[in-house]
Amino acid sequence: MFIELTDHLRCPADHEEAFLVLLPERLEGRSVRTGTLGCPVCDRRFALQDGVLDTGGAPPPGDDTGPGTLTPDALAPLVGLNGPGGYLVLVGRPASAWRDVAALVPGVGMVAVNPGREVVDEEGVSVLRGGTLALKTNSMRGVVLGAPYGADPAWVREAARVVLPGLRVVGEGPDPHPQDVDLMASAGGVWVGSRRR
Ligand SMILES: [Zn+2]
Repeated sequence: MFIELTDHLRCPADHEEAFLVLLPERLEGRSVRTGTLGCPVCDRRFALQDGVLDTGGAPPPGDDTGPGTLTPDALAPLVGLNGPGGYLVLVGRPASAWRDVAALVPGVGMVAVNPGREVVDEEGVSVLRGGTLALKTNSMRGVVLGAPYGADPAWVREAARVVLPGLRVVGEGPDPHPQDVDLMASAGGVWVGSRRR
């Protein structure tokens, strides 16, 4: 995990949003390989192992690691990032192709959430696993929800929560509920939205 990303993590417990305090045990350059993340509000602790933060409750990784509809070439223009900096979150199958996505959005950090088993935490990507996004509200430059996450209202709400105002969530699935996200466009089972104002 990029050490800078730890500034954007939050406790996934259902209490007022709280940051997580990092106690690193092993660092390699700017990557935290082993450590503990603790919540100052509820005192929960999460282990960071092989660079991966697992907050629990993630669906088991699927064996179908094909790209789905949201290939790198399809998703990059939909996310619409201009210029370097910050992070793009890839949830589920799109995370398998993080290297190709990174090449299309130079200088943007990749965050892979619940990726296939073949994706490991390494230079260029941080890996999170869990039943929610352990990321702060208004902290990410874009979120891509592969199937079936793009069809799950809870994940759509999580994506809309963490994306910065005015930036985009891209999902694979039927059009999301207007209470969850402001729909900008949809076609061919893919939708683009932004945080509801
Ligand atoms: Zn907590």
